[in-house]
Amino acid sequence: MSETEDHREVALHDGGAIPIIGFGTWQLRGREAYEAVRYALEVGYRHIDTAAAYGNESEVGRAVRESGLPREEIFITTKLPPENSGRERETMRESLRHLGVDQVDLWLIHWPPGGNSGVETWREFIKLNGEGRAAHIGVSNYSPAQVDELIEATGTAPSVNQIKWSPFTHEPKRLAHSVERGVVLEGYSPLKASRLGDPVLAEIAEAHEVSPAQVILRWHVEHEVVVIPRSSKRERISSNGDIFGFHLSPDEVARVDALTD
Ligand code: NAP
Repeated sequence: MSETEDHREVALHDGGAIPIIGFGTWQLRGREAYEAVRYALEVGYRHIDTAAAYGNESEVGRAVRESGLPREEIFITTKLPPENSGRERETMRESLRHLGVDQVDLWLIHWPPGGNSGVETWREFIKLNGEGRAAHIGVSNYSPAQVDELIEATGTAPSVNQIKWSPFTHEPKRLAHSVERGVVLEGYSPLKASRLGDPVLAEIAEAHEVSPAQVILRWHVEHEVVVIPRSSKRERISSNGDIFGFHLSPDEVARVDALTD
């Protein structure tokens, strides 16, 4: 990744920070998962997104260990499958065992359990956070109303809400709602949920001599939205992470904002 000092991390409301770009691992399994994560760490990613449901926590953990990087330099996120609500502690134990770590940096409720906010699950998350098993806790695929229910019931806001986010799916009101509550928005499927051949993206990409994918990922950074692109291909892993050598102007950000469907 190119060297610049800007926007590398986003502060979390309970202290510390999350690297603004992470490496996504959904659908990467076995050797492919191990090699992709090793390569991502080699080219500079310091944040890996996995989940118990992805079936690759062991490979992620092995790649982290064998990278030779100090554990504290790598931010690891994993997630509780919603059907494991009621078995939070056991699920956490399993995730830690597979990953081969004592603590994850961020633990998310993968989906609202049974379609509800899952206040009881959130209480267990708060306990395990207090015990140091997860440095930070959050949610994924939660609506603004569901986030508010957790805050009202427990007084503890999720550190992060991970939701689908791209120039074509973003909702400024949801971002504002999150920011107002101190909940960092983390976007998934930034590329899959985009039309990479869009002419506006092509024009901006050409102006900066980057790819449309890099424009999309940089657009997240300009909005301070954490982004976790996935690729199984070395060249893309590397270029997707290389988004700190250029900026989008306010006008370019506005043009990308306007791509929303
Ligand atoms: P994504 O990262 O937006 O897109 C991945 C796809 O884009 C892959 O098919 C990849 O193919 C391709 N791609 C990657 N870089 C590219 C580039 N530079 N140019 C063209 N194509 C490129 O989608 P995602 O995996 O759905 O989302 C990212 C991560 O978010 C996941 O891996 C996962 O960690 C997380 N996620 C979370 C949830 C949730 O419910 N919380 C849901 C979905 C995803 P190649 O491998 O061939 O490069």
